Amino acid sequence: MAAGHLPENLLPVAIAGGGIGGLTAAIALARHGIASHVHERRESFSEDGAGIQIGPNGTRILRDLGVADALLPNISAPESIVVHDGQTGRTITELPLGSWIAERHGAPYWTVQRSHLHAALLKTARGVPLITLTTGSAITAFETSADRVAAIDAGGSRHSALALIAADGLWSALRPAIASPGAPRPVGKSAYRTLISSDNLPAGVKTNSVHVWLSPGSHAVHYPVSAGREIAVVVIVNDAQSVQNWSTPAPRGTLLNLTRDFAHELKTLIASAEAWRMWSLHTLPPVARWSNGRTTLLGDAAHPILPFLAQGGVLALEDSVVLARLMSAYPTNIPQALRLYQSARMIRTARVAASSTSNGRAYQLGGATAAARNGLLKSIPGAIVMRRYDWLYGWRDAS
Ligand SMILES: Cc1cc2nc3c(=O)[nH]c(=O)nc-3n(C[C@H](O)[C@H](O)[C@H](O)COP(=O)(O)OP(=O)(O)OC[C@H]3O[C@@H](n4cnc5c(N)ncnc54)[C@H](O)[C@@H]3O)c2cc1C
Repeated sequence: MAAGHLPENLLPVAIAGGGIGGLTAAIALARHGIASHVHERRESFSEDGAGIQIGPNGTRILRDLGVADALLPNISAPESIVVHDGQTGRTITELPLGSWIAERHGAPYWTVQRSHLHAALLKTARGVPLITLTTGSAITAFETSADRVAAIDAGGSRHSALALIAADGLWSALRPAIASPGAPRPVGKSAYRTLISSDNLPAGVKTNSVHVWLSPGSHAVHYPVSAGREIAVVVIVNDAQSVQNWSTPAPRGTLLNLTRDFAHELKTLIASAEAWRMWSLHTLPPVARWSNGRTTLLGDAAHPILPFLAQGGVLALEDSVVLARLMSAYPTNIPQALRLYQSARMIRTARVAASSTSNGRAYQLGGATAAARNGLLKSIPGAIVMRRYDWLYGWRDAS
């Protein structure tokens, strides 16, 4: 059946999870005329105050789905990525973003607060009659039959659906039944995060740039959010604890101690924030199968990646548009649509995950290897370094 000619009385798609992936999937499906019911486990859709970088492969999707307008009042479009030696503070290199990357890939590079991105997705979804949103509804099980799937919530209510998309994040409750029983493992690192007023940036640190400070075994990243009024700061350090809740209050003294070897201006920045939150980074062995009959995984539930390339959320946006296109192309053969979605996405997401892991290793080198990395970065013009990521930022859906 051709896209755009959907059968009458098509059941809605059930989506477990109202995070970045679940809401985007609902909006993308609606663009193809497919109704959905998003079930969010939490009692409200609020997101906490961390930042998120959205490369051109993500901002293009937000623009095409009609989400960008709601986000524009709160975006920053940084002009560059400044890479520093985290111990001396010296600049190693500066990589172009701003108009350079927008012209190269036909879409900008934005940095925003997660809560602002989430609010823009929610506002868009609420304006679409084909989308139903329910909070306080955890989907914990499902049952499939030949022509439908029943998504079953924690209270035992059954929701008949055309398909079930598990967009329920890293700790997906549905993944074991759909795909494989593997569980996320801690990687021995924790991320501490905060928001500060942009007035607190130390003198000499460019306001409208992403800054990455590299140090042996740890690194820090900060960038403007809230249209430049605030700076989102993330510090990633070696840490044996395994904290699953990503809003765990973090003792400031512990962080100050862990970062005592950082350059003076970075320590000043870190010390300027009182309230920190932290969570432990986890990884999951590649999931061999995402789609099973009328059920599939999307976003972190399918392919959680380490945050060293700032792409986990953007991959969930990419998943959403591919999945919606294929479900609209095969509305009467949903298992086939979901299999094609898996084939279309697995290699790309594995490549991004591998690239992110390797970035993380390079960020936290020490001794002679760190010196070699710095020397190499200094010797290559920033635009040449960024061109190596054309495969990442230049992604477009096949349609
Ligand atoms: C330190 C760090 C920095 C990052 N920085 C970036 C960045 O700069 N750029 C970027 O693109 N990505 C970044 N990411 C990754 C990004 O945050 C994730 O990839 C993204 O949030 C995944 O979205 P998701 O919708 O798949 O999952 P989630 O955001 O985890 O959403 C899942 C949703 O499902 C709900 N839920 C869970 N279980 C159920 C259930 N059984 N039923 C119903 N609802 C349920 C949850 O409450 C939640 O709302 C970063 C990650 C980390 C750790």
